[in-house]
Amino acid sequence: MGYNVKNENPGKTDNKKKRDYIMRYHSTRNNKLIMTSMEVIKQGLSPEGGLFVPDSIPKLDREELARLISADYRQRAQEILSLYLSDYSPQQLTYCIENAYSTARFSSSDIAPVTVLGEELHILELWHGPTCAFKDMALQILPYLMTTAIQSTGDQKEIVILTATSGDTGKAALEGFRDVPGTAILVFYPLEGVSPMQKLQMVTQEGSNTVVSAVKGNFDDAQTGVKRIFQDTHLAEQMEQRGFRFSSANSINWGRLVPQIVYYFSSYLDLAKQNRITLGQEINIVVPTGNFGNILAAWYAKEMGLPVNRLICASNDNKVLTDFIHTGIYDKRREFVQTISPSMDILVSSNLERLLYELGGRDDVQLRRLMEQLMEQGYYKIEGKALETLQSIMWGGYASVEETLASIRDTFHDTGYTLDPHTAVGKCVYDAYCRETGDNRATLLVSTASPFKFPGDVLHALQTYAADRSDLSRPFDAGHDAVQLLEQLAEVSGMPIPNPLQGLREKKIRHTSVCSREEMKEQVAGFVKKREMK
Ligand SMILES: *Cc1c(COP(=O)(O)O)cnc(C)c1O
Repeated sequence: MGYNVKNENPGKTDNKKKRDYIMRYHSTRNNKLIMTSMEVIKQGLSPEGGLFVPDSIPKLDREELARLISADYRQRAQEILSLYLSDYSPQQLTYCIENAYSTARFSSSDIAPVTVLGEELHILELWHGPTCAFKDMALQILPYLMTTAIQSTGDQKEIVILTATSGDTGKAALEGFRDVPGTAILVFYPLEGVSPMQKLQMVTQEGSNTVVSAVKGNFDDAQTGVKRIFQDTHLAEQMEQRGFRFSSANSINWGRLVPQIVYYFSSYLDLAKQNRITLGQEINIVVPTGNFGNILAAWYAKEMGLPVNRLICASNDNKVLTDFIHTGIYDKRREFVQTISPSMDILVSSNLERLLYELGGRDDVQLRRLMEQLMEQGYYKIEGKALETLQSIMWGGYASVEETLASIRDTFHDTGYTLDPHTAVGKCVYDAYCRETGDNRATLLVSTASPFKFPGDVLHALQTYAADRSDLSRPFDAGHDAVQLLEQLAEVSGMPIPNPLQGLREKKIRHTSVCSREEMKEQVAGFVKKREMK
């Protein structure tokens, strides 16, 4: 047990061997807390506030990569997931994968198709799922991973998913968990800080086990509120006794992260299959980043042996990560800026904790100190080897709202391709990276949302719609404008409106609740009470 691919036998993981070990997990803030992947996926966050990480990082060698070139997305997912989720049987994994990545749910049979934007620039489109944003890639499979874990471990409790969302997570989680037996889901979104379209998608959510509530404040307020509820051991005990168990669908859950590793391998293999690169050639990957989940999955892929030169971390005006990569100082003591890429409006990137833990030599005591300092003083600093390693792996940059709009316009002008604002932040930072370093090798730009999720801002960029920034705080009826904007954008971009968004017009508004950060706990208690009476 405790098969450590990194130290024993690097690069030699034949199929038989993979089945013979059980991957264990521990918490970043207490590495004596050992668990299996099923436990980790059920729990989400460790009781002392740490995040779960695998004991070792498995490797895929060149031969295994070559073998996967002819495989489809689902087969590739089976291969990657089985390395990490070794306590799931192959049949259980197949069941989860087949249900999640079906053509009934994804509009592209490739699931995550790669398009060519320029000679060396390729776009990985992660928005062909039911909510038109990349969160679907993980949140379509997470409910299956969770319910499988529940059944396998004989747990009778109902899982209550609590989630804070900066926009896209909420909707994707709601769609993933709706009407899944043995689960219920409560989503909090910041009253100021999601787009009219994102809000419309959430307040019209259907499903007998779903509740959506707005929180007065920004994303960090909502996220902090949820974290507090998770850390309330008294509340957790009460829930246990009544037959419920809290879990998280936020990107801190390992069950969110691990499916994201798959598309980095899959897109690389697609590039090789299309002869755009040769197998083994190093590429750069640009990731528009918020909570640091997506780019962390790319880091895991690189550690597993995916040939990656640089990970380019793209931020908007909330450029905490850019500064961190440049200076080693993570400082959230700054003004929170509302931008046109709301899913990246984040000052505390939770998943960074996992990378910090690895960069710091897996020292849980030191990590805990850093996280406490962040909580109490609002900043921390890394230096020496940890910072050097970080800077050798990552390059950080950011784009202002003006630059983002210009990038949407220029890219459309030059290539006819319409970027959403998040992907456009990535494109800006990619351009800056090429200018500054002269490194213009084959690159994958991760596209995290369909432009139709942000039609007003995209049309504004294309200069056919005078977007009014007060839109964000206008009451819900702004949503109806959003539907009209879809048609306008379809006309201008020449792209069809994605089916899930097309259908919004007919949907009824079902969720109107608003609470303060202090009232979130009561909301949760009330929700559980209602579930109890069912
Ligand atoms: C969530 C999200 C991001 C940020 O991803 P992280 O994993 O939080 O870094 C970027 N773009 C879109 C559209 C998103 O929904």
